[in-house]
Amino acid sequence: MHLVIIGNGIAGVTCAQTVRRLRPDARITIVSEESAHHYSRTALMYVYMGHLRPQDIKPHEDWYWPENRLELVHATATALDADQRTVQLSTGHALRYDKLLLATGSVSRFANWPGRELEGVQGLYNLPDLDRMERTTRGIQQAVVVGGGLIGVELAEMLRSRRVAVTMLVRDARYWGSVLPPEEARLVDQQLEHHHVTVRYDTELREILGDATGKVRAVVSSAGEEIPCQWVGLATGVTPNLALARTAPGLETDRGILVNEFLQTNLPDVYAAGDCAQHLLPAAGEVPVEQLWYTGRMQGETVAHTICGQPVKYNRGPWFNSAKFFDLEYQTYGRVPAGPEAGVSSFYWEHPNGTAALRINFQTAVPHAVQGFNNLGLRLRHEVCEKWLRAGTPVQEVLAQLGAANFDPEFFPQFEPLALAAFRSQFPDFAPVQLRLRKGLLSRLLAR
Ligand SMILES: Cc1cc2nc3c(=O)[nH]c(=O)nc-3n(C[C@H](O)[C@H](O)[C@H](O)COP(=O)(O)OP(=O)(O)OC[C@H]3O[C@@H](n4cnc5c(N)ncnc54)[C@H](O)[C@@H]3O)c2cc1C
Repeated sequence: MHLVIIGNGIAGVTCAQTVRRLRPDARITIVSEESAHHYSRTALMYVYMGHLRPQDIKPHEDWYWPENRLELVHATATALDADQRTVQLSTGHALRYDKLLLATGSVSRFANWPGRELEGVQGLYNLPDLDRMERTTRGIQQAVVVGGGLIGVELAEMLRSRRVAVTMLVRDARYWGSVLPPEEARLVDQQLEHHHVTVRYDTELREILGDATGKVRAVVSSAGEEIPCQWVGLATGVTPNLALARTAPGLETDRGILVNEFLQTNLPDVYAAGDCAQHLLPAAGEVPVEQLWYTGRMQGETVAHTICGQPVKYNRGPWFNSAKFFDLEYQTYGRVPAGPEAGVSSFYWEHPNGTAALRINFQTAVPHAVQGFNNLGLRLRHEVCEKWLRAGTPVQEVLAQLGAANFDPEFFPQFEPLALAAFRSQFPDFAPVQLRLRKGLLSRLLAR
């Protein structure tokens, strides 16, 4: 079997590694236009900030690929002919496949703002973007970041690490208003303020203004304000990369490449996984296009089994995401919408100094099954929270065992007693909950 994979991101590479394990005899070719070797996209910001060197964000040494007989082709796949089972490459060569995985990821999504083509205006998705940002932000004093999501904050943090003054334009009334409840958004605001980032809420980009040399010199906001800047970061989302898919006659696409629960497209032996795939039948409450590192890895692993003749349905399990807002770590497990939901109660505790918060959503009706967690500034173990979510564990039971989920009590502060006291005052009608501390924890706490 010759498996050809287009894209060396987390989805493509995980598929290749899994197929290599399941089918030691398979020939596997990975084609990618962006870089010769796989790297961790989520760590791009740390290269800019000088915390990591470019070679540090490659999870594998260069010898890993030949050692595992994974053939790498650094080129663009320009056309797909499913009848002939061939992929045309920018090098002029064509690859014949028995099985084909499309793992082409995403591209930045921009509106058609006037001035978008000016030098110093860009998004951040890939290595060429990082190179461009490195070049065009050298020596600048002011930047504007458009978009109030995860990449927007990353861009602000990157720029602040070089002491560039940053103004963020955010369409919503609060930070990441479609995802974070107001309390969590306020904590992010405190981080932005602490790091001297100016934020304009309820504000959109109207126009980008250039100077005589074609470089950006200012933006005009929807409020009519002209904000001087030498660089504009567009962090207004990503969309599946369909450039190759669109060359394939008959391949069904919508927002992404349409796949069934086995991650098969409508064309024989052609599969899609990761950011570029759109699930035809997402489970209730799940999104059809998942644009996350860990879902890319899960999809890559799942599709590998199907490719090897051991069909496995993609089953993501409870939602999970994590990020960092400057100094504030964020994790979310399960379902925590941005606003109140009928039949769902929400417990929220925040440390008085604003450095940590915990939200637990649970069903108002008995037995008060937990539905989701938001953690800021404290870490709860993924596997423990997932177990509680899958089992529909009552909230009192979760609170009693909260210590079991604390990521590492040696390094993360003991918030459990404080959270429990907050729960008692917010939900006085609930039966008293006794905190069950982990073995040895009490003695360590008393010793402090
Ligand atoms: C700056 C940034 C930070 C992020 N941080 C987080 C985070 O903290 N947590 C999280 O969960 N997610 C994060 N994400 C999202 C996450 O990185 C993506 O969901 C994930 O990388 C998608 O993996 P993928 O394998 O589907 O695609 P990609 O990683 O996009 O890889 C696809 C590859 O295919 C190549 N390709 C496309 N078309 C062709 C073609 N025709 N021929 C050859 N090659 C082609 C592309 O060049 C690309 O290299 C972040 C994304 C960005 C941009």
